[in-house]
Amino acid sequence: MAKYTPMIEQYLSVKAQVPDAFLFFRLGDFYEMFFDDAVLAARELEITLTGREGGGEERIPMCGVPYHSAENYIARLIEKGFKVAICEQVEDPAEAKGVVRREIVRIVTPGTVMDARLLSETVNNYIVAVVFSGGGYGFAACDISTGELYVTRLSGSFELLLDELNAYNPSELLGSEAVLEQIRGSSSAWLKTAVMTPREPASGGGFSPEGLFLEQQLASLPESGRETLALLMGYLQETQKRSLSHIKHIRVYEPNQYMVMDPFTRRNLELVETVRDRSKKGTLLWLLDNTVTAMGGRLLRRWIEKPLMNAAHINDRLEAVDRLYNQLIVRDELKQALKEVYDLERLTARIAYGSANARDLVALKVSLQQVPALRQQCEASGSRTLAALAARIDPCQDLMTSIAEAIVDEPPVSVRDGGMIRAGLSGRLDQLREASANGKQWLAELEKQERERTGIKSLKIGYNKVFGYFIEVTKSNLAQLEEGRYERKQTLTNAERFVTPELKEKEALILEAQESMVDLEYELFVGLRDQIASYIPRLQQLAELIATVDVYQSLAHVSASNRFTRPEIGDFYALEIEEGRHPVVEAVLEDGVFIANETKLTREDGNMLLITGPNMAGKSTYMRQVAMICLMAQIGCFVPAKRAKVPVIDRIFTRIGAADDLIGGQSTFMVEMMDIQVMTEKATERSLVIIDELGRGTSTGEGMSIAQAVIEFLHDKIGCKTLVSTHFHELAHLEESLGGLRNYCMAVKESGKQVTFLRRLIRGAASTSYGIYCAQSAGLPASIIERSYELLHTFEARTELLQGQLQPAACDANGQDAGEPKPEAPNGAETIAEASASDAQAGVRYTVEATV
Ligand code: ADP
Repeated sequence: MAKYTPMIEQYLSVKAQVPDAFLFFRLGDFYEMFFDDAVLAARELEITLTGREGGGEERIPMCGVPYHSAENYIARLIEKGFKVAICEQVEDPAEAKGVVRREIVRIVTPGTVMDARLLSETVNNYIVAVVFSGGGYGFAACDISTGELYVTRLSGSFELLLDELNAYNPSELLGSEAVLEQIRGSSSAWLKTAVMTPREPASGGGFSPEGLFLEQQLASLPESGRETLALLMGYLQETQKRSLSHIKHIRVYEPNQYMVMDPFTRRNLELVETVRDRSKKGTLLWLLDNTVTAMGGRLLRRWIEKPLMNAAHINDRLEAVDRLYNQLIVRDELKQALKEVYDLERLTARIAYGSANARDLVALKVSLQQVPALRQQCEASGSRTLAALAARIDPCQDLMTSIAEAIVDEPPVSVRDGGMIRAGLSGRLDQLREASANGKQWLAELEKQERERTGIKSLKIGYNKVFGYFIEVTKSNLAQLEEGRYERKQTLTNAERFVTPELKEKEALILEAQESMVDLEYELFVGLRDQIASYIPRLQQLAELIATVDVYQSLAHVSASNRFTRPEIGDFYALEIEEGRHPVVEAVLEDGVFIANETKLTREDGNMLLITGPNMAGKSTYMRQVAMICLMAQIGCFVPAKRAKVPVIDRIFTRIGAADDLIGGQSTFMVEMMDIQVMTEKATERSLVIIDELGRGTSTGEGMSIAQAVIEFLHDKIGCKTLVSTHFHELAHLEESLGGLRNYCMAVKESGKQVTFLRRLIRGAASTSYGIYCAQSAGLPASIIERSYELLHTFEARTELLQGQLQPAACDANGQDAGEPKPEAPNGAETIAEASASDAQAGVRYTVEATV
């Protein structure tokens, strides 16, 4: 076996502690990497790979980065999903016997990032730990950059775990190999970016949450909570190796406090990112986000990800939004004050972590200065909710004063160069400063004297780190210097630098004063920072309250500027929406007006809509709009409707458009069926189920049969509110047999060869899909179009024959009433002609043309 040098041996023993991380091994002014780490890092970071003798037979691959720019390289590796362990020299090389002792001081991983460069301001960065035990999952999520910590227990199925993971979108996941393997097998979008760190729950490293958290808090944990917390906190302590005193408050919740949405539904409703390019623009978050602070931005995202289930809590939120909606001045004042508030959550975390600088403290001070105004505006709003919130605000004005007294208004970035502490805070510091200032004065005097003595006008006194203070004379003037008085130190191209004994002596005094001054400033600064650390729980609570105010003003502002109205919300069954709109489609609609539609899903008048109509008619927009309105209401936001009565929904289930969801070799149809299976198992009477194009992806006969069977199951067995769109007009006959089902279709106006989509939902079933019309608009050759119509007529004749034997046909969208209208149908079958006529009277313009 090759025998390595002691240094390489040391490297190998440290590296063995972190097999899954790059080891940044400090050697002088560089972090070096060796062996496979070096080869991979050279490639990933595009830096030069070199080699080094290490005692073995072959040269050891090596590459390195300068320590002062290491942060950039670390950031790049983390972004690529790697981990980086930082290994420092932990003794003075001058005092070391043999190889300098080195230790890992911190392991940076995607889920434990503190560097602002790697964090998005308005997105939390979660690390999640999952422990499977007793037939359920212990779940803990932490954002160490803000100090938030959430713990819950997910009893039952794996789907529930996936739903929860999707709500947090973690960048790193801890769990046993078995749990991680199961998660890898799922199709969630976030999996693409999350780093999986296998750790057995028992490997908590002897960590016990008792040392870190209050017993009272631990007592509220669900069973398995301690184990999960131990896994998570054990990992955090092992990687961070420092105080995590900002992670103190455990927020325990029950999953049923929030509406459940499966990963597909979250994605499909485009809550926080679009399906197409995963961007924020075009999402509900984008529309509702008028927050001013980074914390408000993150909180709004969390509210959208987790709509509430408790009607009273929802109404509290709505009450605050309502008050602010109507008070533009209060809203503006709040916004002005919020503009001056920095990211208190992350500032607080940096203070606890020991990485806050003097500028961070000034940012904290400036933020605290806004608190009295914020509190006052909350009280002035007349809102009960905001008044209760204001009562909980602790303005921490004593802290603000301490910072204001200690730190100058514009301190430097570095905490090691002085210039942070105000005059008058410390007598000793003021003395040192005076000494240093006197020294500088003395130097200026000396320069003047030397110029006079030598007659050299360009003579000057300068300073550099290697030689200290010197007298510089250009080469052309050297002859004028008095022999023996000046000692030569350094030669430049056209000047020489000298010292005198007098200068040397004074230099020692000046530098000493300066060094003591810088040290003392650092000491005073760290003292203040540690003092602030004791305020952390108060600051965190303050941060949360300010974030909440920010979200309220944002929701109120957006509601007011988009003509949203306050929904009536409660634990009743009926969902009734008058003139509902899709908030995002409406906001991005470039030409034309958005056509509002009604929704009524009640036990008496039908809780299921079967919607037919051609492609592009607006079916899926309509169905999404219903889901959006329910969701917005449960967030505590006003809704895009003239009037809305919204029941608390326990779960929204959507199956809309599956084309882009081909994963793991499963067909669209298979994915759809698996989702429907979950839905049949999980949906309750309080759920909202939305299925677009039910039964496509297999043969017509099979598709239609499955669609009918699913509809019957939802109708008979579950009784949830359901919207189903389908291509199979034949299913319209179900209205006859299912008491809760109503046929609806999207109105279409035909005039000659022109088809106009009216985007209006009307009673009755569509008779044609206009598929051939679409093909024609898309420019297919006339011969194909003609042939298609020919074939269609043949098919239709055949089907009619068959249907005639089986069912009475329903009415069609053109108003040709093919059967008797059902007596209980509230408005009977409205015809296009009627719709158009009444709209014309009402002055509604239909400007939306077929764009297929
Ligand atoms: P379908 O699901 O029937 O194929 P979509 O719901 O996708 O149709 O709607 C097609 C397009 O029509 C949408 O992208 C949108 O721009 C527009 N649209 C849909 N509903 C409306 C409406 N109520 N008012 C105005 N435009 C609408």
